[in-house]
Amino acid sequence: MPGERKDYISWDEYFMGIALLSAERSKDPRTRVGACIVDKDNHILSTGYNSACAGMSDKYDMPWASEGEQTGDKMKIKDYFVVHAEENAIDNYLGPKEKLNGATLYVTLFPCYKCAQKIARSGIKKIVYLNMYKKEDINEISKYILSKANVEWQPYKAKEEVLELKSKVLEKLSNN
Ligand SMILES: [Zn+2]
Repeated sequence: MPGERKDYISWDEYFMGIALLSAERSKDPRTRVGACIVDKDNHILSTGYNSACAGMSDKYDMPWASEGEQTGDKMKIKDYFVVHAEENAIDNYLGPKEKLNGATLYVTLFPCYKCAQKIARSGIKKIVYLNMYKKEDINEISKYILSKANVEWQPYKAKEEVLELKSKVLEKLSNN
């Protein structure tokens, strides 16, 4: 209809924007990841970000600095205790399991192989990712797991005017 706003954001921008905003909740100084799960009718089912495993506080208990990687102290290595954004988003969804069938996962970083395993058995059938995980050999394992489970993946394609989406949203949140 004439008169509509022309610069409204697309579904992809909306859901990736929510994944990006979710990532801002993460307390990991090195890697912030956010995820948003959407059903076939564009309803948001769940969101998540990388945090501590159940029972641990992501504010007080997590060895976010991972000093153990230098000292050898395993209790100070975050990887043993962190729960990834995708896992959290799937676990945070409390509705009927069928709704996950055919759902799309928007995630700011391509899933690791553990998350790929979880996605493969969740019913999610499509992944839209913002950044590719930098360890290529691990990506190959994730891609193999996902392809075996008929899960598609595609990079998020930003239009130029929404590359600044995250900062625009955060700016509005802090200025009002
Ligand atoms: Zn993962």
